[in-house]
Amino acid sequence: MEKSANQKTISIIGGGLVGSLNACFFAKKGFIVELYEAREDIRTAKSVSGRSINLALSYRGRQALKAVNLEDKIVANGIPMRARMIHSVNGEKYSMPYGKNDQYILSVDRANLNKELLTAAEKYSNVKLHFQHKLTDCNVESGMLVFKGKQGTAKHTYADLIVGCDGAFSSVRKQFMKKKRFNYSHVYIPHGYKELTIPPKNGEFALEPNYLHIWPRNTFMMIALPNLLSQGNPPSPSPVVEDIECTDAQPLMFPDDEDTRL
Ligand SMILES: Cc1cc2nc3c(=O)[nH]c(=O)nc-3n(C[C@H](O)[C@H](O)[C@H](O)COP(=O)(O)OP(=O)(O)OC[C@H]3O[C@@H](n4cnc5c(N)ncnc54)[C@H](O)[C@@H]3O)c2cc1C
Repeated sequence: MEKSANQKTISIIGGGLVGSLNACFFAKKGFIVELYEAREDIRTAKSVSGRSINLALSYRGRQALKAVNLEDKIVANGIPMRARMIHSVNGEKYSMPYGKNDQYILSVDRANLNKELLTAAEKYSNVKLHFQHKLTDCNVESGMLVFKGKQGTAKHTYADLIVGCDGAFSSVRKQFMKKKRFNYSHVYIPHGYKELTIPPKNGEFALEPNYLHIWPRNTFMMIALPNLLSQGNPPSPSPVVEDIECTDAQPLMFPDDEDTRL
């Protein structure tokens, strides 16, 4: 797209969920959007690192997707979770609804959501996606940006506005930290994090599918979200697996492990 004299360029750093969604919003407003992502394109990459646990999508997230015409597509492949299923330490289970009978949150495939958002961003003629561009330096006042490209070569460019969407260890934030009087604190919780998978039983979900399962254990917790094992596009409803997320899990505290095969 040809840039008009007064059209501003926005550089978005990071093509995760926030960066790719932001690209769509800025594009709708008519800005020239350059999105830089350190990883290769997850839509074509052979293997993708990072969190794989499904994401719980609520009303607020759906509104954002609606604004970029993606709500129906993402919701169609989501699994409604109408309640939390609490697994007590004595083996009893009880459910706690998220809302009224017709209300639910959705378990959606995180990688697929990111891929759809990148594709939606790319559809705007004023958006350009640059993969394998890792930000190494920037100056938020001058708009100067430096990236490490595919072959390790440095690439310099400028933007009217830099938007940092580069996640928890943000390189953009690191540049702010060099500024005088910039306050920042980072506190680690004492817990670890582990992802497990519960395979299907006889081709069916091993746990009740329409719940977000929670094993609250005071100092740590384990959660599990239903997940459609993707076998092509759209995902096939069978076989099924469930992602599970836990911290410092102690097997003796999970009396229902016969069901879950932990
Ligand atoms: C275990 C877990 C479970 C969660 N569950 C939920 C949930 O159920 N529902 C929910 O709404 N949220 C959930 N969240 C939060 C949600 O995942 C995050 O809020 C969301 O991923 C943040 O998106 P992001 O785009 O800011 O960051 P990220 O997803 O981390 O993306 C950052 C991107 O920036 C890129 N990048 C990093 N550094 C650079 C650089 N120097 N140059 C260029 N690119 C760079 C990375 O490669 C990455 O693609 C969960 C988070 C975790 C950790």
